[in-house]
Amino acid sequence: MLMQSKFICRKFNIMKKVILLILFSLFLQQCAQKKVDLTKQPEQKIMEDNTHKNNPYYSRTDKTKLNVSNEEWEKILSPEVYAIAREANTEYPFTGKYNEFDELGEYYCAVCGNHLFRSSSKFASTCGWPSFFEADKEGVSYKRDSTHGMERIEVLCKRCDSHLGHVFNDGPPPTGTRFCMNSVSLDFQADSKK
Ligand code: FE
Repeated sequence: MLMQSKFICRKFNIMKKVILLILFSLFLQQCAQKKVDLTKQPEQKIMEDNTHKNNPYYSRTDKTKLNVSNEEWEKILSPEVYAIAREANTEYPFTGKYNEFDELGEYYCAVCGNHLFRSSSKFASTCGWPSFFEADKEGVSYKRDSTHGMERIEVLCKRCDSHLGHVFNDGPPPTGTRFCMNSVSLDFQADSKK
C-alpha cells in the first residue's frame, strides 16, 4: 500500500514538472511573438510614408542624365508605373488621380523626380487625362511616335527617358499646346506641404 502511494506521488510530481515546462515554453513563445510584432510595425509605417525608398535614382535636385536599363527599373518601380512609364502604355481616361485635380504645386517625374510642370500651366481638359499648356523646358524631351496607326509626338522625361504622354497643338492660349499626360507618370508636391 505504501509502495503504491509513493509511486502515485512520484507520478504526480513528474506530471507537475511536465505541466510547468509546457506553461513555461508557452510563455517564452508569447514573448518571442510580441518581440517580432514590435519590430515589424515601425518598418511597415516607414514603407507607407516613403514610396521612393527603394528607388536610388529618385531625386528632385539632381539633374544628371540617367541611363538605367528597363530590367533594373522593373525591379525598382511598381508594376503600374513600370507599364506606363517604361513600356509606354496609357492609363484609362478619366481614371487618373490628377485628371480632375487643381491644387497648387509642382509636378515631378514619378520615376526619377525630375521637375516637369507647374500647376499654373494645368487646365481643365475634357480629354480624360491631366493636361498642361506648358512644360518645364529642362524637364521634357520629344520623340516621333508612329504607333497605333497615328502620327503623334511622344513626351518623355528628359532625365530618365520615361514615357509621360503625348503633345498636341489643340491646347488653350497662351501656347496653343496640350501636353496630355498619364497621372501614373507624375508625382505631385503641393505648395502647402513644401
Ligand atoms: Fe524621369
